[in-house]
Amino acid sequence: MTLRLTIDPIACTGHGLCADLLPELIELDEWGYPILPGSVPAGLAAHARRAVRACPTLALRLTRGRADQGSSRRADQDSSRKASQH
Ligand code: SF4
Repeated sequence: MTLRLTIDPIACTGHGLCADLLPELIELDEWGYPILPGSVPAGLAAHARRAVRACPTLALRLTRGRADQGSSRRADQDSSRKASQH
């Protein structure tokens, strides 16, 4: 099992607080929305939890899952976009 950061793309307001708190793992895309890593190394788990607690909209979550499960906001956005086209 691997720790993974996930995001609710509807709830995220894209102000980048999580990237400020966890720059080792979270980058921002050109619109200021976070791009998440595939997994959270054990050594950064405490920092990831702190970023999750600080998210003002509760959009960021830390979950346990397999390393090969989906990984990024961009992937979530793509799947949401595809779903809305049907
Ligand atoms: S702190 Fe929360 S709301 Fe702000 S950019 Fe990160 S995930 Fe989105």
